[in-house]
Amino acid sequence: MSSQALEQFLTVNIEDLKTKGLYNVIDTLQGANGPVIQIDGKSLINLSSNNYLGLATDQRLIDASVKAAQTYGAGAGAVRTINGTMDLHIELEDKLAHFKKTEAVIVYQSGFNCNMAAISAVMDQHDAILSDELNHASIIDGCRLSRAKVIRYKHSDMDDLRQKAKEATESGQYHKIMIITDGVFSMDGDIAKLPEIAKIAEEFDLITYVDDAHGSGVLGAGAGTVKYFGLSDRIDFQIGTLSKAIGVVGGYVAGKKQLIEWLKLRSRPFLFSTSLPPAAIAACSTSVDILISDTELIEKLWANSKELKHGLSQLGYDVGQSETPITPCIIGDEVTTQQFSRRLYEEGIYAKAIVFPTVPKGTGRIRNMPTAVHTKEMLDQVISVYEKVGKEMKLI
Ligand SMILES: *Cc1c(COP(=O)(O)O)cnc(C)c1O
Repeated sequence: MSSQALEQFLTVNIEDLKTKGLYNVIDTLQGANGPVIQIDGKSLINLSSNNYLGLATDQRLIDASVKAAQTYGAGAGAVRTINGTMDLHIELEDKLAHFKKTEAVIVYQSGFNCNMAAISAVMDQHDAILSDELNHASIIDGCRLSRAKVIRYKHSDMDDLRQKAKEATESGQYHKIMIITDGVFSMDGDIAKLPEIAKIAEEFDLITYVDDAHGSGVLGAGAGTVKYFGLSDRIDFQIGTLSKAIGVVGGYVAGKKQLIEWLKLRSRPFLFSTSLPPAAIAACSTSVDILISDTELIEKLWANSKELKHGLSQLGYDVGQSETPITPCIIGDEVTTQQFSRRLYEEGIYAKAIVFPTVPKGTGRIRNMPTAVHTKEMLDQVISVYEKVGKEMKLI
């Protein structure tokens, strides 16, 4: 017999999500996550993935995966510290360090896991973390896990950050203080003010931690936001994901040799969770090779996003203040935004509505994620559907 208390908890809370309109129904893809996807037998132009460069379906990555699986097997067989470290893992870490222009890199099973691993490996209850209020969920959880005092500062507000850094330092209460931020904020596509953050960190001798999940493969010729600002030797922790632009799965921390050495000795997801399988590692390696040798995909990504942003603003839509390919189209109230997204779906466009509480009330938006592998015809089609639906709903 199952617990009555559990059953009641689940029933009440699931019902509550349904009444608030927060119950998420997950669509199932029938096939690959490319620029066109199949759902319920219907073909849709896909503007919802993080597969920025289209590498998730790139033949070179697929071939590398198959070859690695045949040579090394389907699984890594153990955690990295026992005997789950293969030459493939080391090769990928060396390649990433070279690409990021840092001394060393440690690879984890996901970007999420990096934040579970790295923050609590260096921060504890005697420390404080200054955290941007819009930081990603995995940063928030990673901070909590460390038991450090979390001090939130207003989004990208450098006066607020400096004030709070000053107070925390002068209080004399903390052994160490860290500033932690997303490199690119995924809802609005704005870039963290890293040059100012680095300056404040230097003024008060703070640790700097940048989670660059949406910047890697996109900014700084693919090497990320820190490289884009030329700050590679002034940021202590650079987190990257292998699951977005890189197109596979996994995450990594790039930094000084001694820091990476410490993470290999002490970070728990590295010590207690099995390492990524050979096929994934080999595909990631090939992906990094592609980024190093050729900027064509990145250029195509930026050209496509420019075209999409331009097309939508020409129609009279508010595309926000994005500085990256992330292209929000701000519709306004929650119900209209959901309805808009549904109409796009019916017209063959897959672009998700993002509403309160993920973004502030009244700023409901469609979040469009163009990629390098969308064709001109696909983008033209998207813009013509936005025109049709917008006029029909009297939004433009
Ligand atoms: C997506 C994302 C992650 C999670 O990365 P995964 O590799 O998908 O686990 C972590 N941090 C930020 C800022 C992200 O945007």
